[in-house]
Amino acid sequence: MGYLNRLLLIALLAATSAAADTTSFDGQLAMEHIAQQMAFGPREPDNQQAKQRTLEYIERSLQPLNARLSRQHFAAYDLQGTNLWASFPVAGSNTATSERIMLGAHWDTRPHADRDRDKTRRLMAVPGANDGASGVAVLLEIARLLASKPAPITVDLIFFDLEDMGQINNRPFSIGARQFIAANPQYRPSAGIIVDMVCDKNLSIPRELFSQTRARPLMDQLWAIATRQGASAFKNSRGHYISDDHLPFLEAGIPVVDLIHYPFPTYWHTTEDSIDKCSGHSLKQVGNVLSDFIYTYGQNQAR
Ligand SMILES: [Zn+2]
Repeated sequence: MGYLNRLLLIALLAATSAAADTTSFDGQLAMEHIAQQMAFGPREPDNQQAKQRTLEYIERSLQPLNARLSRQHFAAYDLQGTNLWASFPVAGSNTATSERIMLGAHWDTRPHADRDRDKTRRLMAVPGANDGASGVAVLLEIARLLASKPAPITVDLIFFDLEDMGQINNRPFSIGARQFIAANPQYRPSAGIIVDMVCDKNLSIPRELFSQTRARPLMDQLWAIATRQGASAFKNSRGHYISDDHLPFLEAGIPVVDLIHYPFPTYWHTTEDSIDKCSGHSLKQVGNVLSDFIYTYGQNQAR
């Protein structure tokens, strides 16, 4: 085979494998995003170096994908925080006002493992493989899909800081999400989905009750997709009322559903929230439901 032919073959093979890779959510790539975040240490206020590195990691992952990035700093409850907004606009759209959907996850981790069985460990930080890194990992893997195949609607990925400070020094949960809404009062996505604690090997996502009460049509759409896909992690049962980053949006009248593992796993808010609890298969179930929702957006409404 001549040199040119060989080059062509290599190019063809590369193109073929790239095309295969970009068509669906890759659970193993999502697992790698968890491992990378874990390597920085707990992403909590007393570990600013880990927080900086994590922010840079998320941005570095998104930059080559041509996402429009903006960091939004805020100060609240004696803390400094940063929300990161990555937008994948539909070609030709006016990004400020066009119809859009939001996917969100918190990128911080809880500074205190206050549910640890071992009392001496309760002031240690939660490593946050499931509670923090897993949601970020799903969003980053979705970003890879959005870059290779544009969605029919503008998609915003929002990485919220300071979700998990609740009940520490009388602070609430979802400080970052509330700050985001306050800073962007014009922001009105037609639908939003929060992913939180979605990597467990025995993933169980029942219908979270704030979402079910206030964003029922959107929730039904997501569960219909899950049923069609045979995504067994999605349980067609009543969950619990859970305070999470969807709540400030629901209070602002924006339909946002919380996909969250419940009952919480035994390692929740302990020092045992490590990557060995996670599974690429679970991440993929969630990723597949999200990508189906994104790419069929507009068709579901018509049905
Ligand atoms: Zn938490």
